[in-house]
Amino acid sequence: MTDHRDPMRRCIICRQSLPADAMLRLIVDEEGQIWPDLLRQLPGRGAYHCMGDGCLSACSDKRLQVLKKDFSVVFPQWEALRLRIEHVLDKQQQRMFSRLGRTAAIGRDAVMHRLWNNAPVVLLLAEDAGDALVRQIQDAADKRGHAGDGCELVRVAGRDWLGRMLGRDQVAVAALDASAMAGKLKQYCVWYGRMKVSG
Ligand SMILES: [Zn+2]
Repeated sequence: MTDHRDPMRRCIICRQSLPADAMLRLIVDEEGQIWPDLLRQLPGRGAYHCMGDGCLSACSDKRLQVLKKDFSVVFPQWEALRLRIEHVLDKQQQRMFSRLGRTAAIGRDAVMHRLWNNAPVVLLLAEDAGDALVRQIQDAADKRGHAGDGCELVRVAGRDWLGRMLGRDQVAVAALDASAMAGKLKQYCVWYGRMKVSG
């Protein structure tokens, strides 16, 4: 991880250093409002959140006080910031799904079929997909040539949500061809899922 385009950053909550690309950048505007900078394009100094399970459930106005050291921040703010993060994640995922969804396998039969050929995929499985379907998909994924390799399984918010993302009613499972964008989308899905659980 010595790539200069992706420097290490320290999480404001757990103090752990990670590649900036694996973290959520936050910026503080002139009114002291904190905003998520998902694409890391906004000017100015940023602060970083690792978006790990523990750091999301531990995040609070009290923990965000650490930002006062470098920024003038208005409090309370965590609830507003949480909504902003969910909102940008939702919008960005929608954008990415509308590009990647065209080649996605949607629904059990299509996904099972996609799994039979061994091209790398990102599997998205709704939290409320149901045990039988989860087991079936998991088994099929495990049976592939390189079990666990080239086949990443991600639990996402729910059937309604995944359906909305893919322009359908409800979708319990979908498979995206592996790509840099699918990998990024997977990361956002994981973050979004954690936000929902910790909320
Ligand atoms: Zn952290």
